[in-house]
Amino acid sequence: MTRAARVLIVGAGIAGCSAAIALADKGFRVTLVEKQAEWRFQSSGIFIYGNGLEALRRVGVLPRILEAGFGIGDGRNVYLDHHGAPIVDVFYPASSGGAVPILGIRRAEMHRILAGRLGALGVEIRLATMVTALHAPGGGEHAEVTLSDGSAQRFDLVVGADGIRSQVREAVSGPLTPRYTGFGVWRSVHDRPRALDAKIMMMGIGKRLGIMPISDDKLYIFGTVSEPADRWYPKETWPAQMRARFAEFGGPARQFLDQLGADSEVLYTAVEEVQAPLPWHAGRVLLIGDAAHASTPFMGQGGAMAVEDAVVLAEMLAADGIGEPTLQAFGKRRYPMCRFVQDASRKVGEAGAVEDAASCARRNTAMQATAQQQVDAFYRELDALRTVPA
Ligand SMILES: Cc1cc2nc3c(=O)[nH]c(=O)nc-3n(C[C@H](O)[C@H](O)[C@H](O)COP(=O)(O)OP(=O)(O)OC[C@H]3O[C@@H](n4cnc5c(N)ncnc54)[C@H](O)[C@@H]3O)c2cc1C
Repeated sequence: MTRAARVLIVGAGIAGCSAAIALADKGFRVTLVEKQAEWRFQSSGIFIYGNGLEALRRVGVLPRILEAGFGIGDGRNVYLDHHGAPIVDVFYPASSGGAVPILGIRRAEMHRILAGRLGALGVEIRLATMVTALHAPGGGEHAEVTLSDGSAQRFDLVVGADGIRSQVREAVSGPLTPRYTGFGVWRSVHDRPRALDAKIMMMGIGKRLGIMPISDDKLYIFGTVSEPADRWYPKETWPAQMRARFAEFGGPARQFLDQLGADSEVLYTAVEEVQAPLPWHAGRVLLIGDAAHASTPFMGQGGAMAVEDAVVLAEMLAADGIGEPTLQAFGKRRYPMCRFVQDASRKVGEAGAVEDAASCARRNTAMQATAQQQVDAFYRELDALRTVPA
């Protein structure tokens, strides 16, 4: 067992921080490098379902996440049409660890909590640092790394957790360009009216708009819509663009859309996907999180998959040591679940992009009979894939 093995993690996002915590907790000597000079995280909010919360429990941060975020105790997701008329209520399952079924939280808050745990475990963190040279021959037992601060070091394992535009991925999968999915996501943060305490999804024509509390006093809204490839919008136009995109939405979204103005906290993201083929490792370099399997956001599972990667990796390395068989087994174990999530999420996105009003009306009616079954089937399959041996 390689208790004192040295691991370099590249990228301090959800995957990298979670992996650093989980590995340090198992006795590995972890160095975490992050290219940003300070912890600065785009995105207003994020929601995490029961499986992601269970993984965060295993990373040791769940109580603080529950305290900082906004949990939906009964797991209810209210579906409305774009005028606000009810379609159906769907209930998400809680995890076996007893956390709430859905939680919304500010992304920056989630990172503050992960960073606090990293500090408590004494993980060495180097901000404003990147890998400038990486040599990890197949069959070798080390990776030689040079960092942008000029230091050169030998690690037993390098974990590429550097997100969708991963630099480390080149050493594992060769050049792999993220694929634009045809969707843009518009997000904004607002004060939360006391009475708004559910997750709401409004199904429009070719568009959907969600509302999710992220703390006691804030919520965020997120709208998805088809956007042409390579379309860039100047940042100062984002509030007006978001307001215009979802102008036909009424119901509970109306008050928040009306609030959008020059000072609003609005974020636009063109959604891309990455499906790195197996193996997810080459020599002593391994990919996790979005670097290996960035997904469309329709299932709200990308963050959960990143934390699950971290937990599974730490367990496997602690049990079986850092070696070719373990790295191979890690990819084989995680690939089917991550691929399943990506495929399911893409299908949901495509179904939501239908722009013909009659089809959308039929879709909304069909949801009354099928939406709960689909959620149940999705989570049953996740559970089944979690227990598949590598
Ligand atoms: C619009 C949108 C909404 C989403 N909503 C949800 C949601 O509600 N729930 C959910 O679970 N998931 C959601 N996701 C997915 C989720 O955000 C990602 O799956 C998750 O952030 C992946 O974490 P990561 O750590 O792998 O990558 P990232 O979060 O991208 O982190 C990568 C880190 O690596 C750093 N980095 C990059 N390159 C280098 C380098 N060369 N050297 C050093 N550091 C580097 C970056 O600065 C960053 O800190 C959403 C995604 C999108 C696009």
